[in-house]
Amino acid sequence: MLTECEKGRRPIISGFAVKLAAAIMLLAALVTACGCTHNGPLVRELFAMDTYMRFSVYGLTDGEAVDEAADAVMRLSRLFDATDSRSEVYALDHGAGLPVPVSPETFDVIEGALGLSHRLGSAFELTVRPVLTAWGFTEGEHRIPSDAELAALIENVDDGRVGLDAERNTVTLPEGMQIDLGAVAKGYAADEAARILREGGAKAALLDLGSSTILAFGSKPDGTKWKIAVKDPENADGVAGIIETDGGAVSTSGGYERYFTGPDGQVYWHIIDPRTGRPAKTGILSVTVLTDDAMTGDALSTALFVMGPQAAEEYYRENGGFDFIMLMEDGSIVMTAGAEGVFTPYGSRAGAKVSVVEP
Ligand code: AMP
Ligand code: MG
Repeated sequence: MLTECEKGRRPIISGFAVKLAAAIMLLAALVTACGCTHNGPLVRELFAMDTYMRFSVYGLTDGEAVDEAADAVMRLSRLFDATDSRSEVYALDHGAGLPVPVSPETFDVIEGALGLSHRLGSAFELTVRPVLTAWGFTEGEHRIPSDAELAALIENVDDGRVGLDAERNTVTLPEGMQIDLGAVAKGYAADEAARILREGGAKAALLDLGSSTILAFGSKPDGTKWKIAVKDPENADGVAGIIETDGGAVSTSGGYERYFTGPDGQVYWHIIDPRTGRPAKTGILSVTVLTDDAMTGDALSTALFVMGPQAAEEYYRENGGFDFIMLMEDGSIVMTAGAEGVFTPYGSRAGAKVSVVEP
């Protein structure tokens, strides 16, 4: 459902008023070269990929492209949901070692994610899903697996063994192997939505896919920068800082998003170090990554969280092309020089000790 923009809720009018309104709109369309009838965004809210999303789109005269973008995201959500027996990822995960034909979008996201996985090394593995299941993160019945169980499971975590056949559009997983697109799905969906909106004539948009993945493109009509809040990982309603940007993707990964407290009093979260099969604990509470495209940012935020601050710094120096902000368990902030220019710590992180990582 399209909820109308901040300015100018559509009035109920008739007769002379209709003609007058039409004349004014025509005039406005002629005067403003962009053909817009207002400056406020069209706003569309939807629930997909287990989260509330909100698209605010500027420069469109009707909501057709916004509906199209929202429909595409809903479709991707259905295709990628590994817990839904009707999804393509479910079919792949239960493919008994045989090639499984998939739609172009599913092939595309897996191909792209495997490319990122290759670059990111052992910190990032789509095939970590059986380990997530062992901890109860896929079905919601949390438990602490034994060392032996984890050791056996990580033997079968290896993205290098996923087979892709671009001619037949099939994906093959060795028997027992399963993939999970949780680390990249929202990023891929954000990029798709932005592409559809741009092609549909949108001049600018802020796409919020559940606050962990945000993509902004174009310039706001009032000329101000996009303002994106970074959540306080220690306070569900709090904000730890504000990013002011001209556009791009902002992706955040944090243990606070999904976790449970074990009988031992320890907190166990959903981001797994594939080398150990255990939740990645490196002193980071959340990582926010700034990139051009949302899928790369999504994969990077998950991977940097697993790598920890030192390995993440090394990865950044060797590869570049992104910025990051890490909110550390000890209250400090580690961020790149590029992030320092756009990020203002706030609330409990205002005045925090900051270490700047130079390129
Ligand atoms: P994100 O919120 O983007 O960091 O993604 C976290 C999700 O990615 C988890 O809920 C899992 O579904 C999946 N995941 C967890 N650990 C990894 C990992 N090391 N590599 C790839 N995906 C992972
Ligand atoms: Mg991610």
